[in-house]
Amino acid sequence: DGTAVALMGNAGNDNDALAAVAAQAEGIGLFRTELLFLDRQSEPSVDDQVQMYRAVFDALGDRKVIVRTLDAGSDKPVPFLNAITEENPALGVRGWRLTRIANDVLERQLEAIGIAATQTSADVWVMAPMIDTPQEAAEFAKRARARGITKVGVMIETPAAALLADKVLAEVDFASLGTNDLTQYVMAADRLDSRLSDLTSSWHPAVLRAISQAAHAANELGKPIGVCGESAANPQLAAVLLGLGVTSLSMAPSAIAEVRGYLAGLDLSACQRAAHAAINASSAEEAREQVTQILGN
Ligand code: PEP
Ligand code: MG
Repeated sequence: DGTAVALMGNAGNDNDALAAVAAQAEGIGLFRTELLFLDRQSEPSVDDQVQMYRAVFDALGDRKVIVRTLDAGSDKPVPFLNAITEENPALGVRGWRLTRIANDVLERQLEAIGIAATQTSADVWVMAPMIDTPQEAAEFAKRARARGITKVGVMIETPAAALLADKVLAEVDFASLGTNDLTQYVMAADRLDSRLSDLTSSWHPAVLRAISQAAHAANELGKPIGVCGESAANPQLAAVLLGLGVTSLSMAPSAIAEVRGYLAGLDLSACQRAAHAAINASSAEEAREQVTQILGN
């Protein structure tokens, strides 16, 4: 209906970035930098990191790229950072929380991203994972801006960040909902445990209500809020996310064509009706059924 929705790709390296461009993505909505570090026994130098990031940036021409700072820990352990065994790694020192034990690593990463951003025509935005509080958001924003980064954001992937999204977003320029983790934490169900897969559905109205609250806060402030979790790759769920107020979607490049085709046949008011029904359902199955009735398959 003329509503513009940026469809972006998720990437871990330059090949993914090229795949996103081939799929006519408007850019990269989630550059998972930690994937470049997973097999590293020691931290790459700032110069090496600049080259690693530029490889992705340069694949994008002048498109946008949202770089996520290291989300090491839990399901993505990095050898030189996560040497200590934790009882509950998903609730432990991961993502932004690594600044508590390895502050300099984050500082050097921001330095490298800042340098790489000056050497490319890509439009570089930067966000931190696992931000839980407005104070963490403010601290990250201060440090990223000190490195010359102009578009600073946070991932919203904890219930605390979603519930206080108005305060969190007041500190930054944009947010991206990490619905994989948001679902795991809202439902208190390990995303890696297949025995709990019925609980780790982003269709669950509890998850959708958390998204709704965060999107509403972002809309009120006039700030962009995307989704970069797997939920954005499901066409019907993508429509629901738009109906909840999400402004862009980032997904595996292979999913973009199908999501684009599906959304192109809808208008925003249908998405809003679907979203309204989904958040008023009492289970993931009921939410999906209601949405299918409203939007079709
Ligand atoms: C998410 O949690 O939804 C997300 C996009 O980040 P990751 O899957 O890398 O934790
Ligand atoms: Mg996550």
